[in-house]
Amino acid sequence: MAQLGSEQRPLAVAIVGSGPAGFYAAEALLKSELAVKVSLFERLPAPYGLVRSGVAPDHPKLKQAIKVYARIAESDDFHFLGNVTIGRDVLVEELQATHHAVVFACGAQTDRRLGIPGEDLPGSHTATEFVGWYNGHPDYRARRFDLSCETAVIIGQGNVAADVSRILAKSVDELRHTDIAQHALEVLAASKIRDIYVIGRRGPAQAKFTSKELKEFGELQDCAPVVDAEELALNPESEAELADKRSAGNKKVYELFVAYSKRAASGKARRCHFSFLKSPTALLGRERVARIVLEKNRLAGAAFSQAAHGSGESIELETGLVFRSIGYQGVPIAGVPFDAGRGVFPTVDGRITDEGAVIPGLYAAGWIKRGPTGIIGTNRADSRATIAALLQDLAALDGGADKGGTAAVCQLLQQRGVRYVGFPDWKRIDQSEIERGRPKAKPREKYTSTREMLAVLDA
Ligand code: NAP
Repeated sequence: MAQLGSEQRPLAVAIVGSGPAGFYAAEALLKSELAVKVSLFERLPAPYGLVRSGVAPDHPKLKQAIKVYARIAESDDFHFLGNVTIGRDVLVEELQATHHAVVFACGAQTDRRLGIPGEDLPGSHTATEFVGWYNGHPDYRARRFDLSCETAVIIGQGNVAADVSRILAKSVDELRHTDIAQHALEVLAASKIRDIYVIGRRGPAQAKFTSKELKEFGELQDCAPVVDAEELALNPESEAELADKRSAGNKKVYELFVAYSKRAASGKARRCHFSFLKSPTALLGRERVARIVLEKNRLAGAAFSQAAHGSGESIELETGLVFRSIGYQGVPIAGVPFDAGRGVFPTVDGRITDEGAVIPGLYAAGWIKRGPTGIIGTNRADSRATIAALLQDLAALDGGADKGGTAAVCQLLQQRGVRYVGFPDWKRIDQSEIERGRPKAKPREKYTSTREMLAVLDA
């Protein structure tokens, strides 16, 4: 029998998830010296995961990564299978039976919870819902956001919180020619929000924004950043953190806060307040959110491991709209061990483990492996590392039997009446979105449901 990875017996690898981690895993496999066939599965008919439905519509440069992914997809050894849910349409054990290895790159699809009273009151939302809604993700198109109050509160000070706040802060003219979903543009056009509070549980030296994202708040058409200079006082540990060269990014962020705190009041219609050392302890309201209770915190611990501790002193803020933007977490897939505490698949060097023991043939890459941190490019090195481990395991992956790969899964899908979408199909949907956007001078008008996307293929 020919060697696994030779032209006669290519290595068949299934990848689950078509975001950055999935495409970079495919790239690493296709660039290896072996003959490899990749089947890349995606739950939606549209590929690209968070690059399509997470990256903010007013950050088109970040979406340039799609060009790289589309080139990867042109390879004859690559097959995209969209509109297929692993664990439902095809089981993990069926992927194992048809491929030599399975790489999970399915990201972190849900949000962490605050665990406070009132968290689920109407008017309190996760960042995921809002981001998915304005980006036209089919799962969130039907969400309703009531922007008729004057004050919105965002909990968390990471880049997702920056995206959510900026979309609320921007004028419609600043968003009109982006690929924002039309339904969101209409609701944002009627927004009455005037004050946006972005609340961090720790101090200004620990905010997780990148300076590029924070700087944008100083350049908005109709919203001014506001920081209370008193809140910028640093304890010695935070001073030590900012003096350390590892904190160059945090230092730039802190300097921006200082600059914002010195700005004279602007005549702009909206204000975005960055506030620190406060944790929500309850959302109050009878039928919907009316107020948020914030406990003031102090920091304790050594530099770089300072944690927020409640002081017992609380303030209340009137608000009808709260977004929790405190980080994402992964969700389980039947047939794969899951670390519920961390919201990831347990791994050692990208190999999935069960109670510490490696499960042969199962791998993970991206957020489902390391948790929801880093930018798009971070996933390239992460996926390469996982694929390096997979290729080291080549001998162990060869069970001797031939694997049917993409063709075998397609046969299963056809038997089950599952309509899968290939990459040429996606390109037709893509082209149709671009054409829909043209009259509005938008890069595209996204289809926001699977039904609409499939209808393009039937037309
Ligand atoms: P993140 O950067 O981890 O920020 C989460 C924020 O929530 C932190 O401020 C964190 O504070 C806070 N938090 C966590 N638990 C909390 C709690 N129980 N109560 C109050 N606050 C809490 O996560 P993210 O904003 O979701 O972003 C995820 C990743 O995507 C990041 O690496 C981010 O840079 C990246 N991203 C990048 C871009 C871009 O490049 N433009 C855009 C969006 C996202 P602590 O620091 O105290 O934990």
